Amino acid sequence: MDQGSTYLPGSIPDEMFPVLRPEQQARVLLHGRQRRVLAGETVVEPNKPAAKFFVVISGQLELVQLSESTENVVAICLPGMFTGELHVLTGRRGLLLIRTAVESELIEIDRDALLSLVQTDSELSDLYLRAFILRRLELIAKGIGDLVLIGSSHSLDTFRIKEFLTRNYQPYEYIDLEHYSDVQDLLDRFSVAQSDLPVLICRRTVVLRNPSNEEIVNCLGFNEGIDQVHVRDMIIVGAGPAGLAAAVYGASEGLDVLVVEGTAPGGQAGASSKIENYLGFPTGISGQDLAGNAYAQAQKFGAQMLIARDAKGLSCDRKPYSLLFADGESVSARAVVIATGAQYRKLPLNNLSRFEGNGVYYAATHLEAQLCGGENVVVVGGGNSAGQAAVFLARTAKRVYMLVRSDGLARTMSRYLIRRIEENPNIELHTSTEVISLSGDDRLERVEWRNNKDGKADSHEVSALFSMTGAIPNSKWLNGCVVCDGQGFIKTGTALTAEDLERASWPLRRLPYLLETSLPGVFAVGDVRGGNVKRVASAVGEGSIAVSFVHQILGE
Ligand SMILES: Cc1cc2nc3c(=O)[nH]c(=O)nc-3n(C[C@H](O)[C@H](O)[C@H](O)COP(=O)(O)OP(=O)(O)OC[C@H]3O[C@@H](n4cnc5c(N)ncnc54)[C@H](O)[C@@H]3O)c2cc1C
Repeated sequence: MDQGSTYLPGSIPDEMFPVLRPEQQARVLLHGRQRRVLAGETVVEPNKPAAKFFVVISGQLELVQLSESTENVVAICLPGMFTGELHVLTGRRGLLLIRTAVESELIEIDRDALLSLVQTDSELSDLYLRAFILRRLELIAKGIGDLVLIGSSHSLDTFRIKEFLTRNYQPYEYIDLEHYSDVQDLLDRFSVAQSDLPVLICRRTVVLRNPSNEEIVNCLGFNEGIDQVHVRDMIIVGAGPAGLAAAVYGASEGLDVLVVEGTAPGGQAGASSKIENYLGFPTGISGQDLAGNAYAQAQKFGAQMLIARDAKGLSCDRKPYSLLFADGESVSARAVVIATGAQYRKLPLNNLSRFEGNGVYYAATHLEAQLCGGENVVVVGGGNSAGQAAVFLARTAKRVYMLVRSDGLARTMSRYLIRRIEENPNIELHTSTEVISLSGDDRLERVEWRNNKDGKADSHEVSALFSMTGAIPNSKWLNGCVVCDGQGFIKTGTALTAEDLERASWPLRRLPYLLETSLPGVFAVGDVRGGNVKRVASAVGEGSIAVSFVHQILGE
């Protein structure tokens, strides 16, 4: 047993392991039952869907991480403390074994009862949710879990898997082949060749060779237990800020909500290092934190979420609408909210894909910043996301070259960001400038650019290029089901002309509601919608407004 990593009770922050007062314990007991359990009995097996949770009345529970040959007590619950972490909300498999250290008196509560408790008792809800989120963050920080990723910092797929696990709040241990020479023993034990890398050892037993996101999800059982047969009130496609807002408002107002997300919750906002212009966060909030809180909030109210499930089509000719997947499966609902956002434009360079994830990035979070600390970096783009990236990276990079095609920033960037860029000696702004080539062996080493006014080219040693040059809407999967503008953004409400409606055979006497597409009961919100202003706040606003129209549709 590794006592070194045990959270001894006195050393645990109170908010992570709060002690319930007797009257609070009595309120939990109203939803559960009291049990006496002998010493050494296992009350929760690891790797099983979350079903039962406990409050210690007397005695002690141990939370144990099992590995092949060792067990590590990662936490102890003393009288008044409760078990559980974020998987309570998701219903996914728990990571730890829980057993009694001594004979104990416990309150046992089922998951459904605990969910209804956190929805109705605001004092306990605060205590439980804060503890669940902090515990998951601690597991992630300490890499405590049952996943081991073996890969290389030069590999695009290693980066993809790391990003996918991080954005799904999944703790994992990472072994970088570039830094450990003795990894071969481990690979031999699982009969893995170097060419199979990256490898994810899932639940410490299943070996996945360069798995797709969907294979990872299947191994971890993320989508288990979600009924895909019954017809829902509302399906939301996309779990960026717009989709998560629709989920929170819809589920909290009693709708039966399913969210379908192609990769991981958070969308583009999840890739933002710091959002400083979102109401209520004067010192800013990272996109990952904002998305994580919204994700937990949506699930607290009972919204369900399918992860790594890409929608490939919508049956637009019959109701209820069905959302179609590539494997032929589908899910149905009376109303659909499309919140699939937009994707960043790519630079027109021949060898771009060779460096994607290997020096070329589309987001500037702590993950990317770690890879280029103390080195020269390039940020391409003149919008707010490019400005934020430049300011953020300037804190750790040697120099930030900011390349903008237009002749200034005033028309495309918020004033506060322009000032920060101008005042930062570490940022060198080049206007009327375009990247003309990328070079390097295994990874990006040099970037060449040209000033379009005087035609002069310049090149510098650069380890990372952040490409932030505008967006293309994720609406192709709809195959023309709804009317879009010339760039593919979905038209809604009054933007739909009489001709649009006639072409789409709009069947109702009333005109489309605000945010309603040319298909009755199908709404578009956030970045994918024509006329949207591409901000987190507007995505959140539209997601929540759409829900009020969904109520009207369901009553029609
Ligand atoms: C680096 C960066 C920094 C930014 N900083 C700020 C900022 O500081 N302030 C601000 O206001 N805005 C900022 N923005 C813009 C803001 O993040 C977006 O406006 C916002 O995220 C849009 O939300 P959305 O929900 O509409 O779409 P998105 O965030 O794009 O989310 C769409 C989701 O849909 C999923 N999806 C796509 N297609 C499918 C499909 N077929 N099936 C299932 N799921 C699908 C995607 O995987 C994604 O999760 C930033 C953007 C970036 C990239």
